Amino acid sequence: MFILKGIEQLEKAIAKAKKLRPRVEFDRFGRYSVSGSKGYYKVICRKDERGYKTVACTCKGAEKGLVCYHSAAALSLHIGLARRQQQTA
Ligand SMILES: [Zn+2]
Repeated sequence: MFILKGIEQLEKAIAKAKKLRPRVEFDRFGRYSVSGSKGYYKVICRKDERGYKTVACTCKGAEKGLVCYHSAAALSLHIGLARRQQQTA
């Protein structure tokens, strides 16, 4: 799991996601399934009680606190959805 502070943090992971083009499946708002080398990983994007945006993925890299491309792929969808939600609220 990592705390999302800015988009710069995601640059490398986004570049990798663009290259590998994983499938991102919408589960519900904040929960996504992303295809990886060994099947699907769950990515959870949420705000914690202190207001930090946290991203958790079930892959090995994310367990070590790395920003994985699954997270980046899910976040690009999540950010778009969050924007749309704010507009309708
Ligand atoms: Zn991952």
